[in-house]
Amino acid sequence: MADLGRIQNNLKALAAIGATPEGGVTRPAWSALEREAHLLAAQWMREAELDVWVDTVGNTFGRREGSDPRLPTIMIGSHLDTVNNGGNLDGTAGVVGSLEVVRELAAKGAVTRHPITVVAFAAEEAVRFADTCMGSKLITGYMGRAELDRLKDAQGVTPVEAMQGVGLHPDRLDEARWDTSRIAAYIEMHIEQGQVLEKLCKQVGVVTAIAAATRYKAILKGSADHSGATPMGKRKDALAAAAEIVLGVERIAAFEAGPTTVGTVGILKVQPGAMTVIPGGAELGIDIRDTIVEPKKVASDKIAAMIQEVCERRNIELELIQLLDDVPAVMSTTIQEAIRHSAGRLGYSYHMMPSAAGHDARIMGFATQTGMIFVPSRQGLSHSPEEWTNPADLLAGINVLVEAVQEADKTL
Ligand SMILES: [Zn+2]
Repeated sequence: MADLGRIQNNLKALAAIGATPEGGVTRPAWSALEREAHLLAAQWMREAELDVWVDTVGNTFGRREGSDPRLPTIMIGSHLDTVNNGGNLDGTAGVVGSLEVVRELAAKGAVTRHPITVVAFAAEEAVRFADTCMGSKLITGYMGRAELDRLKDAQGVTPVEAMQGVGLHPDRLDEARWDTSRIAAYIEMHIEQGQVLEKLCKQVGVVTAIAAATRYKAILKGSADHSGATPMGKRKDALAAAAEIVLGVERIAAFEAGPTTVGTVGILKVQPGAMTVIPGGAELGIDIRDTIVEPKKVASDKIAAMIQEVCERRNIELELIQLLDDVPAVMSTTIQEAIRHSAGRLGYSYHMMPSAAGHDARIMGFATQTGMIFVPSRQGLSHSPEEWTNPADLLAGINVLVEAVQEADKTL
């Protein structure tokens, strides 16, 4: 069984890097603090007698050899960057848990057929550069220099400049790229960041698929006329059009796409915002998600058509920009079974569930057989200092990871 005391000490040591006065953690993508966390993880990997290296874009790897040198590696891990004032488990729990796996294997004297590679991915959170999972995208080739160069942080710093600033080598981007046939599987343990497991009183989630988002920005231009002097039939009210769009997004996501489709208007800015002026401008931010490709496409096409129809009918000028159109990932049934059997054998209650949030496992899922283990998040809270998982559940998730890696090693 994994060592809960060591797990908690490691989590505490990582939480001290970038600790905030509010009790949270801030370790932005490709920052000095993220590097410090990677250095510590690398030190733990060396202590666990792994073969350790950092790639040119800042992902840290530790490899434990298997008995058959011809076999590709089973990769386990997560990320070490955080959102601003985030919690101490998002990502870190998976890295610390993966280290426990190799320690456990060593303690048992267990030899696997496949090599096991612990990975701490860089730059998973979107908060700095408005793109996610950049470490895993760079190793699998889903992102290259052109995509990186389109991004900037709030200070105008590009990812390449940020990487250079912390001593990485983005000029040698290709060296970070893996031949993905050398990865037999990827398994990630992560906190759920939702309330499904807590409400069902289950200790472990077996992730079946990872949802992805399609996002639009809709800029509506009407006419900012006098609210008293303009007759109702002569108006171009951008907010009234936006109101129809908000309800249209809700209706389409709820009733006209798939059972797993969700749609949200999370941003609504109104101009000029005066009591006596008809709103001449409105900007909406629309987020559509699903774990299945087809209903997400149905929803996003219908929403785009609905927005166009509303604006035409109301004589509103429209600029509709698609900001993102990501593809959901289905988890490998082989890995799902390995996780499910392991939870069952260890006597933990489990639940098969999709992930509503994005993870490195979504990217890895396009490249290799991938699975995820969730542990419950108290009240579903995450990206917050309030993030907390019962230590017994965290231990359960890590013990399942240890078992699942060994089962995957036998079946793959
Ligand atoms: Zn995460």
